[in-house]
Amino acid sequence: MSSQVFQTPIEYLKGVGLSRADVLKKELQIFNFEDLLRHFPYKYIDRTRFYKIREIQPDLPYVQILARLTHVEILGEKHTRRLVAQAIDDTGIIELVWFQGIKWVEKTLITGKAYILFGKPGFFNGKAQMAHPEIELYSTEALQRKGNVTLQPAYNSTEKLKQFSLDSKGLSKLITVLLDQQVKDINENLPLYIINRFKLIDRADAYRNIHFPQDAAKLNVAVHRLKFEELFFLQLKLLKNKLLRTQKFKGNVFGTVGSFFNEFYQHKLPFTLTNSQKRVLKEIRQDTQRGVQMNRLLQGDVGSGKTVVALMSMLIAIDNGFQTCIMAPTEILANQHYQTIKELIGDDFIEVALLTGSTKAKARKVLHEKLESGDLKILIGTHALIEDKVQYKNLGFVVIDEQHRFGVEQRAKLWRKNNIPPHILVMTATPIPRTLAMTLYGDLDISVIDELPAGRKPIQTVHFYEAQRLRMFGFMKQEIAKGRQVYVVYPLIQESEKLDLKNLEDGIDVMAHEFPLPTYRISIVHGKMKPADKQFEMNRFIKGETQIMVATTVIEVGVNIPNASVMIIENAERFGLSQLHQLRGRVGRGSDQSFCILMSHHKLSHEGRIRLNTMVKTNNGFEIAETDLQLRGPGNIEGTQQSGVLDLKVANIVTDQELLITVRNCVVELFEKDPQLVLPENQILHQTLQSKGEGVSWDKIS
Ligand code: ADP
Ligand code: MG
Repeated sequence: MSSQVFQTPIEYLKGVGLSRADVLKKELQIFNFEDLLRHFPYKYIDRTRFYKIREIQPDLPYVQILARLTHVEILGEKHTRRLVAQAIDDTGIIELVWFQGIKWVEKTLITGKAYILFGKPGFFNGKAQMAHPEIELYSTEALQRKGNVTLQPAYNSTEKLKQFSLDSKGLSKLITVLLDQQVKDINENLPLYIINRFKLIDRADAYRNIHFPQDAAKLNVAVHRLKFEELFFLQLKLLKNKLLRTQKFKGNVFGTVGSFFNEFYQHKLPFTLTNSQKRVLKEIRQDTQRGVQMNRLLQGDVGSGKTVVALMSMLIAIDNGFQTCIMAPTEILANQHYQTIKELIGDDFIEVALLTGSTKAKARKVLHEKLESGDLKILIGTHALIEDKVQYKNLGFVVIDEQHRFGVEQRAKLWRKNNIPPHILVMTATPIPRTLAMTLYGDLDISVIDELPAGRKPIQTVHFYEAQRLRMFGFMKQEIAKGRQVYVVYPLIQESEKLDLKNLEDGIDVMAHEFPLPTYRISIVHGKMKPADKQFEMNRFIKGETQIMVATTVIEVGVNIPNASVMIIENAERFGLSQLHQLRGRVGRGSDQSFCILMSHHKLSHEGRIRLNTMVKTNNGFEIAETDLQLRGPGNIEGTQQSGVLDLKVANIVTDQELLITVRNCVVELFEKDPQLVLPENQILHQTLQSKGEGVSWDKIS
């Protein structure tokens, strides 16, 4: 709000007081004037017309009726005690009922008078009825006053609040008081040239109209203005943070491309890079020569070849005398990276070491020494690599695989490992829609690998119902006979873990029966197993000793077995889209045609059907992510919890994508012209950034 007035504790508002303040705080987190002002209506009720009693149907929304009161009486005893009234117009009779505040309501009702009734109508014993209607004595003034408010706001309230007469109407009264008293203190917070350029309405006007719109058109421009400023300040902060960081953190300069890179590129790289891979390498190359710390997010579908890009960037760091590391979220993944990298670079080139929770003390000690002396140039591991004990001589480049499992705090911890923080490349195989990325990772630079290596055949996906299970078994046998391997995955979801385990066990029985020894061998991996057992079973499959891997989602990330070409997902309707996509990405890694079979029950929810259809229709991770975002909203997308997008109150990054892009570009342009915000016309932004309270909690954004 910029004015201090809005930080005033809510108990100081006329009509609030201590006890109401208490419930407002507890129930709605309304602590001060600003919080109340930003408690926006969740819908608006049309009071532009009066309904006739005859028009009333059970499924009508809130309506208003003009009727004369003909009868009032109290009925029932104790629990059934209620106040019942009857009202008529020239088309019929309606019954009005109150179960609470009986005495008080009774006093205000006068038989024979006309009232404006407002409420949600229903039917009881075939009669039109309204429970707890809002009721106001009819007068021409009352009618006129209502005439001014065409759209009535409806506010979220709670049972507890209602006990303090703070239902929607009660809250609306408080907001009226606040606006009447303080509207003059709602200062503009955007520069005039932006307001003009984007044709935004005045801020105070916007606040008044979002609560009490003059008409639908005014409501629309009010909402637009508030969305704009909300997104604007979110982007302003993200991009300012990024600027600050580039000013604050110097970066190591990787001035040369030397023999490690060249040797690898010319003699070891077993394939040609895709254009996307080349482009990303170029982007990283540019970033690491500027003397500013790189913070780059690398997005690319599973199998798009991120690892090799990471490795080649690391080689450039090593060419410039620095150490590098790759941090993975699980031991299995760290292991896999270790194997992949070793395979790619071969022996007698650069030493590569693995550090995880299972590394023995003795080996660990040796590693620590080599890191401190700077002899070890490539370290791969889990969280173990950022423990305080681990000291590097000159860590220059860090790759973090699978962003969402590493919090902001952990990223920061890495920076503290050196005077000049290492360059950071975050890799994620979970494609994030552009607009979400702008907000989630608004302070990172983003690279995208959007093509798969040449020669890959797109995975063919089908959706089978339970009745087609025999066909599925037949298909599995056919593929296994060709020498391929098959994954069968079951959901394992926390809430119904017992049931899921049962499913898994039944599934294993059925599989063992259908695929008997000695022709077939099955590996089993699930979360309840000891890591060593898991690894053992996994290795049997990796080595091709087993043809079928029955597993829960532990295999979700990273596992790379090119010979596995069939992915069967049981109860597929229970998986989210991004998870389905991740799972499917386990196949299609070799040169053979790969398949994914989604098994489901006949009964599917509407969303379940959309998910499965989407999977059948496309292999494109970005398209899938977009659908996922539409289906679930940003709140359920991984990584959003700490991002600030959930604090958006007016704007919605799913439905307001276009506006978000407009705003983002506007802010980018602004910082290009005036990075320090020193131009007189931008002073207002300085002030807003310094004051709290423009609706975005900055603490949560990294
Ligand atoms: P991601 O980590 O993006 O899922 P990987 O880096 O693990 O993908 O690569 C998947 C597989 O594709 C690996 O076996 C890798 O060696 C191979 N690969 C990577 N880039 C190419 C390329 N340009 N051409 C052919 N194969 C490639
Ligand atoms: Mg990978």
